[in-house]
Amino acid sequence: MIRPAIPGLTGLFVNHIYCIGRNYVAHALELNNPIPDQPVIFTKPSTSIIFDGGTVQIPGFTKDVHHETEVVVAIGKKGKNIPVGQAASHIAGYGIGIDVTARDIQNQLKAKAHPWDIAKGLDTFAPISAFVPAEKIADDKNLVLELRVNGELRQSGTTAHMIFPIDVLISKLSDYFTLQPGDLIFTGTPEGVAQIKAGDSLHAVLGANITSLTVDVADA
Ligand code: ZN
Repeated sequence: MIRPAIPGLTGLFVNHIYCIGRNYVAHALELNNPIPDQPVIFTKPSTSIIFDGGTVQIPGFTKDVHHETEVVVAIGKKGKNIPVGQAASHIAGYGIGIDVTARDIQNQLKAKAHPWDIAKGLDTFAPISAFVPAEKIADDKNLVLELRVNGELRQSGTTAHMIFPIDVLISKLSDYFTLQPGDLIFTGTPEGVAQIKAGDSLHAVLGANITSLTVDVADA
């Protein structure tokens, strides 16, 4: 699977996948992490992407995989050193995704100050919904995101509680990386992260059903 098409955004294909850690105060605190004064940035490979109706596959070397429900932004226009005030013009669309995380592996890596790739970048660990074009979202600073697991509400948040709002994230990312069409940005999870297991069904919704994502969970 080379550069999968981004559903809902004609002509855009998944390029780099940037992710933001600890972008909601309540989530940083629930994992006993400090509140960052700069965005915490990591990446996932494109092989981690799956789509609505797909299956998250849990490998045997982790015993504690968590859901992290996040607003995902798709970049539509190349940019470097993008001013905050121009960030919106680089957004092609919005979706919802799950930053699937092998928490036990991540905790081991954190203890050794190692990168998180093998906790967060595994195959199937980045499910994404269909995207809605940016012009259909009037205000990305108060978007509700929710996750239900087997019908039970597990996460409910709003982008109003982000430490670094989406325009700031785009600006900061572009100071380090040339953003390109098809780049995705997982913008961080609100509180309520918890374990998922084989047999679970995950249902994430952006806003008042702007778009949604349903995936199953299975052992790899
Ligand atoms: Zn996350």
